[in-house]
Formats: sequence, structure tokens, C-alpha cells
Amino acid sequence: MSSPIPLTDLALLHRSLQPQLEAVIQTAMLQGDFVLGGALLDFEIAFARACGSEHGVGVGSGTDAITLGLRACGIGQGDEVLLPANTFVATLIGVLQSGATPVLVDCEPDTALIDLVAAEKAITPRTRAIIPVHLYGQMVSPRQLLDLSSTYDLMIFEDAAQAHLAEREGYRAGSVGMAAAFSFYPSKNLGALGDGGMVVTREAQIAERLRSLRNYGAPCKHYHTEFGVNSRLDTLQAAVLGVKLPHLPHWNRDRLRIAQRYDELLAPLQFAGIQPITNVSGGGHAYHLYVVCVTNACPLERVALQAALESRRVSTGIHYPVPCHLQPAFRYLGYKLGDFPNAERLSHQVLSLPIYPGMTDAQIQRVVGAIEAAVSAPFSVSC
Ligand SMILES: *Cc1c(COP(=O)(O)O)cnc(C)c1O
Repeated sequence: MSSPIPLTDLALLHRSLQPQLEAVIQTAMLQGDFVLGGALLDFEIAFARACGSEHGVGVGSGTDAITLGLRACGIGQGDEVLLPANTFVATLIGVLQSGATPVLVDCEPDTALIDLVAAEKAITPRTRAIIPVHLYGQMVSPRQLLDLSSTYDLMIFEDAAQAHLAEREGYRAGSVGMAAAFSFYPSKNLGALGDGGMVVTREAQIAERLRSLRNYGAPCKHYHTEFGVNSRLDTLQAAVLGVKLPHLPHWNRDRLRIAQRYDELLAPLQFAGIQPITNVSGGGHAYHLYVVCVTNACPLERVALQAALESRRVSTGIHYPVPCHLQPAFRYLGYKLGDFPNAERLSHQVLSLPIYPGMTDAQIQRVVGAIEAAVSAPFSVSC
């Protein structure tokens, strides 16, 4: 029996760095500066620099990075914020927690990224900001975003939770807007050993306000100037992330190698309805996920293909099966089925294939071979 191929393999990465990780964990434990400690300050500087930005403020999660980042940018009650319907719900939750009014927008059918033409049509006199989500590791066009931003005086706040070090048109994720949110959830391209997030910005004042907002709204101890929360990136997690950060460029290059190999091997399966999401950013794609659409031309339903792959010990994922506007929790926002046809179609068709640094060529071939076998013999698959 062949060994299982997971969607992502964190243990593989962590084994390769085990001595360094154990050393910084020991140091943090004995040093005792667990909250807002030295390793956090070091990592904030290193990560902001890696993103081509100035300031980094570590927070408890990517969701909090969106919430607090928007608040620090002065976005809140009464402000409309544009965001894609096709994203992880955390983008929407971040907007709602900031007090602003979310305005959902459909995505492009081929890239699955926010449709900026649709976004432009959704602008009203109350629209203050747009959140481009650099989905699956691919950036929304910086040039088009900056055009839209200057024409309508919109603030750009990037959701770069899936796009650490992604590039497009000469820009790096996190360097396009007023500020950007990153997540260090374990499975992200740069992941902690638990939850974590960061806001990067070029504006010193925004960074300063964030340092207060994440720390009970206190710019200095026991003196509270606004309603804040407790949401800091742990010193321990920052130390771990500091060990991993230098490896991120070659990990992303490895993701690109795997994606290019999938592109090549999957090309003959287009006639069978297996259609990869379009890469319009070339080598700048960070490939957090490698996503294909199981279109109507495929003899198998997505759920059947997923089961067929699972029977061959190949794990897959769906990002995401229910678009934000159709989630029961957000019914009160007033959206309905049919509002965002591209996002809705993608929610039925997308399938994420295994991709992680260190994945071997033999494993890639096994994944594609399993898809090939399933789509060419749909009726011989046993469940
Ligand atoms: C992961 C993710 C988030 C949220 O990050 P957490 O650290 O899980 O809170 C936000 N937006 C997108 C697009 C994400 O993928």
C-alpha cells in the first residue's frame, strides 16, 4: 500500500529545522519575556522588511490583523469596505469586528480573485476602503488597485494571509496598500506553532496606534486612550517564525516548482474537465494552494473525484465550499443565492491538490495519476 499524500506536510518542515526550533524555544522559556519580548521586536522588523514595508506589528491571528489593522487605519462605523465574496470568512469577520459595513463583490471566473470592474460598480459615497485578498497565493493586480484607489480615493488594505512574499507587476504582497494583514496560522506559507498574525505598514502612526490597540488600548502602561483588546503575537511564536523566515523564499520556490509540474502533467486532462485556476503572475505566485476546477466537462462530480483520490490515499481540500454571502451566520447582511455567480460556481467546482515544500516528483505524479485513473474510468471506482 502506498503511503498517504497529505494536503500539506508540516512535520516534514519542522523535522528539517528541529534543532534550531528547539534551541529558540528553550531560550524563550528561560528568558521569560513571553509577552512583547525581544524576539517579537526582532521578527517584526525582519518580516516587515521582507515584505518591502517599514513597520510590523504582531497580533494574535490573521483575523485580528484585519480587525485591528482596519481600525488603526481609521476605518469603522459608517464606512463601507469592499471585499470579495470568494474568500475565507475571516476577511468578512475582520471587517465586521472593525465596525465597518462589508460590501461583497464577485470574483473573476479564471483567477478567482476579486473582480475590480465589479468592485468599481459597487462604490458609493460611503465607500472608504477595498480589501484585495491575494487568494491562493496570487496577488490582485497592484497597478489596477492603485488606479482604482487614486480615482475614487479608496484606501487599500491587503489581506495577504495566503501570500507571504508573493509578487506581481514589481510589487510585493504587503507593500501595495496603506497596510496589510498576514496570518501565521500553522498551514500558511509561513506558519507558527499555533495562531499568530501581523499587520505591516509604511505609516509610523498606523503602527503606533496598532501597538496600542493590541495592548488594551494603552499607548503606555496603565493609561488607556481608546477601546483596545488583548491580541499580541507571542514572543515564543515570533522566535519560531524568526527561524523559519529565512527559509521562506526557497519554500515558495519549491511550491512554484510543484505547481509548474502540476500544470504540465494536468494539461492533457483539460478535455476531461480538470481546469487549473489561472496564474497571471508567473513566478510571483506564492502557491499557498494549488487549485483546480472540476468543471461540467468532467465525467465525475467533485465529491466523487475527491472520494476516488482518497481511496488512493491522496488528500484534497475545498477552498471554499460555501461563499461568504451564503453562510448562515451572515444571512442578516441580506445577500441571496445568485448574487455572485462566479463565486458560487467556484464554490461547487474548486478542489485543492496537495502542495508543500519537499513534495517529491513521484508524489506529484501519483496525485495526477490518481486523477487520470478516476476521470478515465469513472464507473470502475469502488467506494
Ligand atoms: C487564514 C486566513 C485569514 C485568517 O487568518 P487566521 O490567522 O486564521 O485568523 C484571513 N484571510 C485569509 C484569506 C486567510 O486565508
